Amino acid sequence: MTLVSSTPLLQTARSGGYCIGAFNVHTLEMLQAVVEAAEETQSPLIIQSTVGTVKHLGPDYIAKAALVASERSSVPIALHLDHCSDFNVIMQCIRAGYTSVMIDASHETFDVNVAKTKQVVEAANAIGVNVEAELGRVGGVEDDIIVDDEHALLADPDDCARFVELTGVHTLAPAIGTAHGIYKGEPNIDFDRIQKIASKVSIPLVLHGGSGIPEEQVRRCVAAGMSKMNVATELRIVFSNAIKEVFNQNPEENDPRKYMVPAKEALKKAAIEKMRLCGSFGKARDYLQ
Ligand SMILES: [Zn+2]
Repeated sequence: MTLVSSTPLLQTARSGGYCIGAFNVHTLEMLQAVVEAAEETQSPLIIQSTVGTVKHLGPDYIAKAALVASERSSVPIALHLDHCSDFNVIMQCIRAGYTSVMIDASHETFDVNVAKTKQVVEAANAIGVNVEAELGRVGGVEDDIIVDDEHALLADPDDCARFVELTGVHTLAPAIGTAHGIYKGEPNIDFDRIQKIASKVSIPLVLHGGSGIPEEQVRRCVAAGMSKMNVATELRIVFSNAIKEVFNQNPEENDPRKYMVPAKEALKKAAIEKMRLCGSFGKARDYLQ
């Protein structure tokens, strides 16, 4: 089937009380690995790319590869642009075939965040593309976005309700204590805050910083109302470590297929593990019925 908007996928996940894994990919093999994981577990899937990867590969290359993967697949797949503050890049991606985008103006004031998000929602609504926005500020490092602890800021539940009403945004990433990258200790997640936000807004909520959150805490996030979990760093590490392992065994290896195959297998396994935590096994049928 063709790529679908992430809106109906996430609405179905929210009402079904589970989460959908959204995985950042940087190469064709990474894209294939997460699609195979989704196929094998019959999970709905969101493939994501950062702005950095869009610039590295080209939005058309990524969108066409994701489209082929989706056409060959029996599970619903959405293609999402992660953290983007540039309206022009968002439009480029939508034109290339992305079915979901994030406008991240969380570093701006509340009013500017509302205005910028609203502008993207209006453009995206015309063609049925999902829009995600962020409120508060998620800490850590992702691509060239760096937010230190001092500037990380949790989202206020009443602000979330007001923001959704003012913008008409389809999905919301409220900062609730998770961070991008790998955690030094345990993440300090504010589960009550997730619950409060979920009780005030009816749209699906997005959990950023899904790398290395302990299993029990992921389950609590999903139970509290998170419908999408973003995972980036952990998957990059798994993929890269598998390649390093091949070169450790055979420094002379020069066939990319010889190191990409184990890397792809390792990533697929890690993605399946995240899908299990999300509770998305077998949920593809929810959407197809
Ligand atoms: Zn993020």
